[in-house]
Amino acid sequence: MPTDSTTPGTATPPLGGGAGRGALLGAPAVIGVPEAGQASELFGDSIPVDLDVPVAPRRRTGAGLSGLTVADDLERSEKLAMMRSGELGSVHSWELVTAVDGPGTRLTVFLNGCPLRCLYCHNPDTLNMRDGEPVSARELLARVKRYVPVFRATKGGITLSGGEVLQQPAFAGRILRGAKELGVHTAVDTSGFLGAAMTDEMLADTDLVLLDVKSGDPETYLAVTKRALQPTLDFGRRLAASGLPGGVTSARPVEVWVRFVLVPGLTDDERNVDLVAAYTAELNEIRPGTVTRVEVLPFHQMGRDKWSALGRDYALGDTEPPSVELTERVRQQFRSRGLATF
Ligand code: SF4
Repeated sequence: MPTDSTTPGTATPPLGGGAGRGALLGAPAVIGVPEAGQASELFGDSIPVDLDVPVAPRRRTGAGLSGLTVADDLERSEKLAMMRSGELGSVHSWELVTAVDGPGTRLTVFLNGCPLRCLYCHNPDTLNMRDGEPVSARELLARVKRYVPVFRATKGGITLSGGEVLQQPAFAGRILRGAKELGVHTAVDTSGFLGAAMTDEMLADTDLVLLDVKSGDPETYLAVTKRALQPTLDFGRRLAASGLPGGVTSARPVEVWVRFVLVPGLTDDERNVDLVAAYTAELNEIRPGTVTRVEVLPFHQMGRDKWSALGRDYALGDTEPPSVELTERVRQQFRSRGLATF
């Protein structure tokens, strides 16, 4: 994810994962939250990530995956084959929310596995694929189908988040395709680091990308995520070129929301922010109207306990949330480039 979406199962404002759901929006309205929960590779040769089979214990999920049947009675080799084909995914949890992760009421699904290691990650329990639970695409799509009337009434849809959605591109592709066959609006919350794994076919089934741009300065990006910035920049430009005559992709135009997590002393440098703002404005120069929303997400400490529960060191334990003045300065940097910023 990208700046993640909300912390799964807690409706915590997002900071980690695929992208980031907005602290700017206040507390997200969670309509149906699975009880707090449980908690390699499917890629082409060029994708530097691992696919790992979930090893969660057998159970019918009642927490985090509430109502979804876990396919835990398969042999490891069978699971791996199904994950490669996208029939099976490693899933952390799902929840039904409104006013976050896209328009209307959303069924947000948090997938496990992420190649980044963001210092402020609020979903550290989604980082490894093996910590998720095996859920079939068919099972998840049955859940999507159940909420179609809600999506229609609220102009909502499904949002895939994480973790990093594109660590499981085959599974994500099946969910996106199945959702479109049901006439459901689709969103993908991603850091863009694995954007090369998103095929044109997947883009054609995606209405909205929540693109987490975690920093504009390559060195800061590396310090924040332990990964390189360039793949994210390339992916955003590909999204902006979608649908253009002669564009780099034949997919139809994809709407983009850019998310930026503001962390005092880490990402708040004026130049670093301005590089993100300039890049975002550039996307709208490639295709006017590409980025319809920028969300500046103030850092918060609501994910700290997860790090402690996992027995991991949390580098930002003493970091304070940004002041109102700092947050406004950063939002103004985006607004000064004509970007609708919240
Ligand atoms: S490490 Fe992954 S899941 Fe966590 S914030 Fe970063 S991109 Fe999101």
